[in-house]
Amino acid sequence: MSERPQPLKAINRFFEGKEPWQIVTMTASSVLAIVWAHSLYNAKESVTTRLRKQFFRWLRQVPIVKRKIDEKMAEITKDFRKDINKRLAGVTVRTELPAKGLDPELIKQEVRDHLSLGAYDWRNGAVSGAVYHLSEEISKVACDTYALTAYTNPLHADVFPGINKMEAEVVRMAINLFHGDEGCCGTVTTGGTESIMMACKAFRDLAYSRGISNPQIVVPSTVHSAFDKAAQYLGLSVKTVPVDPETFTVDVEGVRNAIGRRTCLIVGSAPNYPYGTMDDIVALSAIAVEYGVPLHVDACLGGLLAAFMPSAGHHVPLFDFRLPGVASISADTHKYGYAPKGTSVILYRKEEYRHHQYTVTTEWPGGVYGSPTVNGSRAGGLIAACWATMMFIGKERYVEMTDEIVKTARYIEEELRKIEGLFIFGKPATSVIGFGSKQFDIFKMAEQLHTKGWSLNALQFPSGVHICVTHAHTAAGVAQRLRRFVSDAAAAAAHCRRHAGEPVHGKMAIYGVAQEISDRSLVSDITKYFIDSMYYLPQPEDE
Ligand SMILES: *Cc1c(COP(=O)(O)O)cnc(C)c1O
Repeated sequence: MSERPQPLKAINRFFEGKEPWQIVTMTASSVLAIVWAHSLYNAKESVTTRLRKQFFRWLRQVPIVKRKIDEKMAEITKDFRKDINKRLAGVTVRTELPAKGLDPELIKQEVRDHLSLGAYDWRNGAVSGAVYHLSEEISKVACDTYALTAYTNPLHADVFPGINKMEAEVVRMAINLFHGDEGCCGTVTTGGTESIMMACKAFRDLAYSRGISNPQIVVPSTVHSAFDKAAQYLGLSVKTVPVDPETFTVDVEGVRNAIGRRTCLIVGSAPNYPYGTMDDIVALSAIAVEYGVPLHVDACLGGLLAAFMPSAGHHVPLFDFRLPGVASISADTHKYGYAPKGTSVILYRKEEYRHHQYTVTTEWPGGVYGSPTVNGSRAGGLIAACWATMMFIGKERYVEMTDEIVKTARYIEEELRKIEGLFIFGKPATSVIGFGSKQFDIFKMAEQLHTKGWSLNALQFPSGVHICVTHAHTAAGVAQRLRRFVSDAAAAAAHCRRHAGEPVHGKMAIYGVAQEISDRSLVSDITKYFIDSMYYLPQPEDE
């Protein structure tokens, strides 16, 4: 017998005296074990997350647990519906087409009635975020433009070439604001979420084209949930990197360590939604270059403030195409671009990236079909209204509005810092100020402010709230209200310091409770019932 290499000898020794069926079975099962282990490693969720979910799935099948949960869910649904009944009190509920069309004046009146529903005074700057400006003249230009273009559809380039041109111009103006070069390109989308989804699709498909079959995105824990949504839609896995507990910006070394063979995209926010802090895009860009992975900068929220801040005399770190690692940027024209809701831009450094965003089908009996974004037919009117808004406001006024917003935000930040028991999450970069407390329940304070008509956004892990300053907060007359906000906040904090142990009531209590529930599938279900309630119409038998 000839000499065999060492490993083969070992294998032979291992199988010595075994029956052929045993050898076959052992081989097959070890191959399966390897495949299973590989699938664990490549799975979208970690082993512990999946075990945990499995445990709760099992728990929820135990009859007594299931009954309790079903009862509780029925109660919650009823509560949600009660809220809707209260909210919609006084308006006609219509469930059938009117037999004959209504009179336009009546329709107008009913629309006004619908607009007056809701608990907050959103026209007077009591709402965080949500409404980005209240200028009648800006709205008029946008809406007049929409009235002219509402029925256009840029899917038909031959019919509406002018709308295509407007879209191309919005994209090019945005590229220039973010210091892109001639090679940069992009598209208009229907909002930040679609822009983010498009970036994820583009870089997923780029990864596919490079032979990566199970791409992963690496995101800060503070990144907008649109990235999770995109991952769910696109079958991507998500690796989340925590933020530094002092700065509340992503741990840059954590991002470096998270990059692997499967990484198709890393992401930084400029700034993020929860705290308004800006990740260190300069450092992330350097990592992107070093590892050859694309970096997406989510500037949906504050990008169109940050772009004007230097001209307004406010410092902002570099975050745009001037950094070589930045492959794409999303920015919402329907936020601080002040266009009507329904537009955003996604920009790329190279056309190669945008090509991966497109979808093309060549075999459809309806013809060769190619389109740039999610929608087939697209709302030309929204693109035109966005274009008109940008034309009307112009650079000078954008800079002015930015200055007013940033100054207001700085004022609120400073005043909040003076309040005993409060702390600010990191350093707010543009217009969002997140705050929390180590002395009392911050949701108690939010509840207090809520009773005074201030709507703030709740944050979790850790508990906090934020206010997003918009131009609605800077209008003449609103400045006084802002001083009132600051004094209301001080009074609320003082109340909380005195009554630290007292429970929180109302909507804000839910945010506290939701964090305590370890079975996150329950939180998810409750959220689904809440969404259901948005589609609920009061029934005649409801009282
Ligand atoms: C608003 C926002 C988004 C998503 O935009 P939508 O227009 O709401 O879809 C993404 N990222 C950040 C930081 C945002 O604030």
